[in-house]
Formats: sequence, structure tokens, C-alpha cells
Amino acid sequence: MSTGGGHAPGRHGLVCYPAASSRERGTGDSVGRIIAVANQKGGVGKTTTALNLGASLAVAERRVLVVDADPQGNLTSGLGRKAREPRPSVYDVIVGEQPLEDVLLATDLEHLWLAPSDRNLTGAEVELVPVERREFRLREPLARVASRFDYVLIDCPPSLGLLTVNALVAAAGILVPLQCEYFALEGISELVSTLRRVQRSLNPSLEIEGVLLTMVDERTNLTQQVAGEIRGYFKEKVYRTSIPRSIRLGEAPSFGKPIVLYDIRSKGAEAYLELAREVMSHEEKGTGQGAQRPPAGS
Ligand code: ATP
Ligand code: MG
Repeated sequence: MSTGGGHAPGRHGLVCYPAASSRERGTGDSVGRIIAVANQKGGVGKTTTALNLGASLAVAERRVLVVDADPQGNLTSGLGRKAREPRPSVYDVIVGEQPLEDVLLATDLEHLWLAPSDRNLTGAEVELVPVERREFRLREPLARVASRFDYVLIDCPPSLGLLTVNALVAAAGILVPLQCEYFALEGISELVSTLRRVQRSLNPSLEIEGVLLTMVDERTNLTQQVAGEIRGYFKEKVYRTSIPRSIRLGEAPSFGKPIVLYDIRSKGAEAYLELAREVMSHEEKGTGQGAQRPPAGS
């Protein structure tokens, strides 16, 4: 890829990261919006969303960092990198051995960078237990690079453990993908109470960025019914854009590509490009879903 004038080589030779973000260039003091993509439920579309929203924002020439905070490493492999390559990863950042700048990898998209995962992250939850300020292990390294990006998206594992808490403490907003199926709202009260706990004691400015309906099949009554329930619960926090169930979206990661590089004309690509426009328009108008607090009474 073209690295442009804003890239600096890192200590490992594979690192390049951008100079000031476009917003920083415009205003001189802005930092990238850090969004944790989280839901402790497995398989709801967290990784697909972090990857494809990130890629779609990058196509719109926003400088984007996607951070793989999941030991499964699906975001890393979905961008064509092996989770077992011998190179520093988010694990090394979390345990404090590497600056985040030194683990960043360029991708096939000019404006998209990846902080990769590796299997060692599985142990991080346990290793961090005795560590001081163990909930701030991502926040501090990310704060140092955030001004280089317009958006930072953190892909969380399917749990509410220390890795997800670290992502929520580092983030300005949480994006919650909900799969449009019968038990979509199951477990949401645990997610919201974790969010509240983090707001109370660790990150008072954390907001709900938005709730995203994923794997939607508009033809079924079930989808309509579940989407209605989710909109009833989260109200205006639910993105207007929803993500359809799409075979192409499911296939793209096995080719190590975001959907915009795999099949830009597919419904899945259109949906993520539209979501990127919605996210940018909230941001630019300053009227993001993020302005809202979690729903009461949950
Ligand atoms: P985990 O909790 O294990 O991290 P996740 O929440 O990150 O899972 P994904 O990995 O994004 O979920 O998605 C689960 C599976 O569903 C994957 O095989 C993915 O390719 C597929 N998938 C995600 N979104 C869609 C979609 N809109 N249409 C079809 N398949 C999808
Ligand atoms: Mg995942």
C-alpha cells in the first residue's frame, strides 16, 4: 500500500502509523473517537462490525485503528494476518512491555491500521489480576496514539471480563451489535450493569455510541418482532442502518479481507458503508447516539 508522508517506521520494521488525524489537522486539538464494540454474547457480529465499519470509515478516508482485544484473534485473521505470527501484539501492550505504536500493522486499505491479537491474550485476564490499575492497561497506551486517528474501534471478546472492562475504560462510546434473533436481549441487563459500573467508578464519560441490529432478515416476522423489541428498549440509540444476513459477509474473513475489498457491491458492503456514513454524521453533528445514557430501569 501507499504509506504516504505521514507514516513512521517502527522498531520492528513492520509498523507504520499515521501522522495527525484529519480532525487533528483541522482543529489542532481533537483526538480520535474510541469505540468499544462489545456484547458478551458470542457470535452476534462484533468482529464483523469492528472490521467492516473500520474498513468503511477508512474508505471514506478517515484514519482508523482497529484493535483486536479478543484472544480468538478473528479480527486479526479477518484482515489477513495469522493470530500466531511471531510479532508483538495487544497482549504485549496490555502487560506493559511494548508501546502500542510498535505493534501496529498496516492493512490493504491505506487508512486502516490493525493492532493484532495473539493467543497469549487468553492469559492476560489472569495475569492482570494482581496488577495495579489493571483496568487502565489499554486506556493509557491508546490515549497516546488516539490523536493520530479519527476512529479507534476495539473488538471485544464474548465476555464481560477484564479485557472487555479494559476496552470500556479506554473508550468514549460502546457500540453494541445485537443479532436479530429470539434471545437478542438476553444478557443485556448484565451488559448495561457492567456499563454503569464502569461509568460510576472507572470512566464516567463512557456513553452508548449506538446499538446495531445485525444478521437481519427483513422477510421474517421474527426479525420484525425482535427489531421492534430492541427499538422499544434502546429507542433512538439504535442505528437507522441495520446489517442484513449476507453470505458474502460470512465469506470475506476466510479471504482475509473486509467486505469492501471482497465484494463492494454486496448488500453487506452497502450496509457497512451506510453505517459508516451514519456514524460520521453523528460525530460531525455532535448529535451521536453517544449523547444518550443507558436506558433506565435495566
Ligand atoms: P465472538 O463472540 O465469537 O467474538 P462475534 O460477536 O465477533 O463472535 P462475528 O465473528 O462477527 O461475531 O460473527 C459470527 C459469525 O457470523 C461469523 O462466522 C461471521 O462471519 C458471521 N456473520 C457475521 N455477521 C454476518 C452477517 N451479517 N451475515 C452473515 N453472516 C454473518
Ligand atoms: Mg469476535
